Parts: sequence; structure tokens; C-alpha cells
Amino acid sequence: MRSEILSVGTELLMGQIANTDAQFLSRELREMGIGVYYHTVVGDNPARLKEQIVTSLERSDLLILTGGLGPTPDDLTKETAAEALGLAMKEDPASRQELLARFEMMGRECTPNNFKQVWFPEGAKILPNPNGTAPGCLLDRDGKIVVILPGPPRELNPMFTDHVKPYLLERAGRIMVSRFIHIYGIGESAIAYRLGDLLDSANPTLATYVGNGDIVLRATASAAAREDAESLLVPMEHKIEKLFGDSILSWDGREMPEVVLDLLKRHGATVACAESCTGGMIASSIVDIPGSSDVFLEGCVTYSNEAKMRRLGVSAKTLELHGAVSEETAREMAEGMRRTSGATYALATTGIAGPGGGTDTKPVGLIYVALATPEGTRVVERRGNRSRTQNRRGAALEALDMLRKELEKRS
Ligand code: ATP
Repeated sequence: MRSEILSVGTELLMGQIANTDAQFLSRELREMGIGVYYHTVVGDNPARLKEQIVTSLERSDLLILTGGLGPTPDDLTKETAAEALGLAMKEDPASRQELLARFEMMGRECTPNNFKQVWFPEGAKILPNPNGTAPGCLLDRDGKIVVILPGPPRELNPMFTDHVKPYLLERAGRIMVSRFIHIYGIGESAIAYRLGDLLDSANPTLATYVGNGDIVLRATASAAAREDAESLLVPMEHKIEKLFGDSILSWDGREMPEVVLDLLKRHGATVACAESCTGGMIASSIVDIPGSSDVFLEGCVTYSNEAKMRRLGVSAKTLELHGAVSEETAREMAEGMRRTSGATYALATTGIAGPGGGTDTKPVGLIYVALATPEGTRVVERRGNRSRTQNRRGAALEALDMLRKELEKRS
């Protein structure tokens, strides 16, 4: 199937906004195995738009139009498409009721110009828009499909995913299966380099995204049956496993805190944490996951030296000799937390989050992360200065990753 995207909007032509709708749609279509041959942008000008629709339908089987569905007089995409296709416009009574109900819910008056949004080319399938007032529509006639979507991405993206994608897949008799593989500790460019040609694979397709402190690989296969799509993914999964080994956090979309929590549950183990520079981030990320009370005993933010001594039993001598940001202090924090909480494992962080407070020997971004286990304590040193928040988030993730690797070793 040959497809193309025609975006409507003078703002796009003037460079006032970037055409992220076309980018989103292209990615989605590529993943579905549908070739995208053209991206075109036309301003809010009905004559040029009509000319372009006619040209596009001569060369493509699927034409997706974006933008120009609103209530203002320059929103003319549906009307122009109807004219190009020789179709009349008809009001959709169900959409009219929904529009009225929506305005009532918002406590706003529905002025007559809004009804323009519930008129569609005759024979169109209406695509509901729970995120805005303008529904989209789809026409499938004479072997050509025309899809008309609203411009705002928060309306267009779910409309495509929830309605257009399933329609196109069902029409083609295909099923799509995706894996969301989370990788921690390797940057996106290094991952892309290692993946090499795999990123050009057509079925399954593979794409990388920046996640929440990790990198996500999305592998998607399409086939006539689910089992066939699943088996297409297997060789790709083996290659990914070989390339990234224990840097792979999960194969099912779970992020670090959830992975660690599941591992703790599986081992019947518990955790507590003593945080200095992360200021509760580790505890908060664990508590964010439902069911964390099964494994999380306590967390404390011991920011001052006094708190480190009183709450965790860090010795005054250690603090005096090595400083609060040191391997020795991190070790004593983790051990003190493990001893006093009774948890199987304890995590601790201490570091210089920045932007101030660094010295030549202890620069901003220097962070010590400790893990106390029943068999002993390990401390890792982390360097590399980014923003204060990134330094703190990085330390929290590093701590959780230490625990993850420890638990996986025992699996
Ligand atoms: P509305 O009902 O909000 O008027 P619409 O379908 O008429 O939606 P437009 O009026 O063309 O869409 O655009 C509305 C807004 O949507 C734009 O101001 C812009 O923020 C966003 N938008 C439109 N087209 C695109 C695009 N191709 N890529 C990214 N954002 C877009």
C-alpha cells in the first residue's frame, strides 16, 4: 500500500510550528509496513488544497490529511476533500448530540459555528474525538482510503492509534505485536551503534526512544496471526539479548522500580533506603508502584552529618576523615540502615548534586551509591556532572540497578 500525508495549515508553512503530526504518522505507518511516499504541506487555501488532494489520490492508496477541522471559516479540510471526491457534506446527528453534551459539560455556550465540526463527507466513518470538539473521519471507496484527522497532536495521536490503526490492520487482515524492551546504563547513540542494521529491519521493525532514565527499544512484527507475529520477533529478541545482556531491564515495558519490586517479591526479600543527595527519590519511586508495601520497609533522608550519625550510626571519625561524600560514609549509611530497619537489603546514596559545592577532589556529580546485603556491602562511585535533577535521578536509578543486578544474580 502506498500512502502519503497531507498536512493543512498556514502556521506549518510559515514555520510557526513543526509538523510533528506527519512525523508521528510516518513512524506509525512504517511500523505497520505501509510505505509513506510523500509529506506535503498546504496552507489554509481551498483551491491549492483541492488540487493537492486530487494529485495525491492519483498516486497513493492511502491519504491522511491533518488539521483544519475546527469551527473557524478557514478550517476547510473536510469540505475541500468532499469537493475533490465529488461527495456532498452531511450532518452526523450522533456527533451533534455529543458536541452539545460536551459543551454542556464544560458549561460553555455552543455557538452555531461549532456545528460545522459535525458535518462530514457522505459515507464517511466518523472517528470519535474524546480529547477535542472535532471528530475525524475516514472514507474507504474505489480502492482509496482518505483519513481526515484533527491537527492538535493530543487529539490526532489517540485517534490514529485507537481507530485508524485497527481499521487499516483489519482491512489488511494483519495483527501487530510489539515488545517494549527497556535498557539501562547505555546511551541511545551507543545502543543505535550496536544495533546497526537491525534498525533497518522491515518486519519486525525496531526503533529506539529515550525513556524515563533508560532507553526503550520498540520491536514490532506484523503477520496474519498473532503466533506468526510472535515468532517473527524471536530472532530479533535473541540478537538484542546477545548485544545488551544484563543491561536489559525488562522485555515487557516495566521500568526500573517495578522490575526491582518484582524481583524482591520473587525472592521474598525486603528493602530500606538511606538517602542523602537523592532526597527521597529512591523511596518515592518504589512507593509509586502499587503493592510496594510488601517489600519496602522504610526510607529516610539523612541530609546532615548529624542525621547520618544519629539515625544510621555513621561514625564521627568516618565523617571527619573521609567526609560525607565518600565511599566509607555511603557504606556506613547502608549498613546502618540495614541493621536498624531489619530489611534484607539497604541502599544508600551520598554525593554532590550541584551546581555548587564541588571541589577539585570532589567535583559536582561525584556520587557514592551503596548496597548492603546479608553477605556484605558494595559501593560504586559515579561521576559525570549534569543538571542537579539529572545527577540526583541518575544516582537513584544507579542504586536501584545495583539491587536489581544483585537479585538477578541470585535468581
Ligand atoms: P482545532 O479544532 O483545534 O482548530 P484543527 O483540526 O482545526 O484543530 P488546526 O487548526 O489546523 O487543527 O491546528 C490546531 C493546532 O494543532 C495548531 O495550532 C497546532 O498547535 C496543532 N497542529 C496542527 N497541525 C499540526 C501538525 N501538522 N503538527 C503538529 N501540530 C499541529
